[in-house]
Amino acid sequence: MKAVIFESLDNMVVKENFPDPKLPEDGFILKVESVAICGSDVRIFHRGHTNVKPPHIIGHEVAGTVYKVGEKTTEFKEGERVVLGADVPCGKCFYCLRGHQNNCTNLISFGYQLQGGFAQFMAVPREAINAKIVQKIPEHLSFDEACLTEPLACVVNGQELSKIHSGDTVVIIGAGPIGLMHAMLARAKGAIKIILSEIAEKRLEMAKKFDIDVLIDANREDPLEAVLRETEGLGADVVIVAAPSGDAQAQAIYMARNLGSVNFFGGLPPNTKEIPINTNRIHYKEVFVHGSHGSSPKDNALALKFIASGQVQVGKLITHILPLDKINEGLNLVETREALKVILKPW
Ligand SMILES: [Zn+2]
Ligand SMILES: [Zn+2]
Repeated sequence: MKAVIFESLDNMVVKENFPDPKLPEDGFILKVESVAICGSDVRIFHRGHTNVKPPHIIGHEVAGTVYKVGEKTTEFKEGERVVLGADVPCGKCFYCLRGHQNNCTNLISFGYQLQGGFAQFMAVPREAINAKIVQKIPEHLSFDEACLTEPLACVVNGQELSKIHSGDTVVIIGAGPIGLMHAMLARAKGAIKIILSEIAEKRLEMAKKFDIDVLIDANREDPLEAVLRETEGLGADVVIVAAPSGDAQAQAIYMARNLGSVNFFGGLPPNTKEIPINTNRIHYKEVFVHGSHGSSPKDNALALKFIASGQVQVGKLITHILPLDKINEGLNLVETREALKVILKPW
């Protein structure tokens, strides 16, 4: 098969005759139709990851067709269109049993320990089927839209923790694809005012096509002042930091109203120095500060429903569709923020 091999740091190689994956007798082989590039793919490309051992095939936002089923597989038939979640939880540990499978202590993921989707075929093991992260795609949905279920599932998990209520004012810092997904989902959940702050000019321009009430150009105006102005000095109900910035995290604490919440959704680069946070602000204002990462099977199920119902129009995020061979161009488009979502087509 054709596959992109992450050979070593900064080295992605397209191979035309890479060996096909072995059919698991209780799983199936997926023919990859659409795979989206995630910001984390760019980070792995440059910096590697403890759970990725090169040479390896990465990519974890995948939709495709069931190509060959194993003898013992009864849940899926050849020709069915499916989308994968990225994380395969064990189903048995403390967190799995509590329904927080994204915190599974035995987690394995497509594109990390398992082969990813930057290839024509992938083996889908029994564990993924059992974990219910393989979902059938509704007929009216394209593969390109469906493969964005995985990142949206992470956003669904994040907003579950942020507890957005109808009528809320929500501040989102960062207008990348994740920040824009947060904006669309918050709207679907009934947020009445969505304020989006961004520093990159290209992204501010692209954000104009989305349903945002107040777009803050963080180069021209202090985002905190703008948020206070837009909330009658109170601050927002919910603040979501969808940017890898410690300064934005520290400032977000001041953007939340009393009893509001702050979600550190975006992680910071490894070896970032610790961020000074005003804990007295949290204390006296009774602000809830939390993080979120990854997604559980239930979040994937809900994400697909939000996409299928048209309430979260992920198709608006797709700025580039490229053949798999153009992986390096795609990574560059994501890294330079020229693109929102880049979809690769292996066929
Ligand atoms: Zn991702
Ligand atoms: Zn587990």
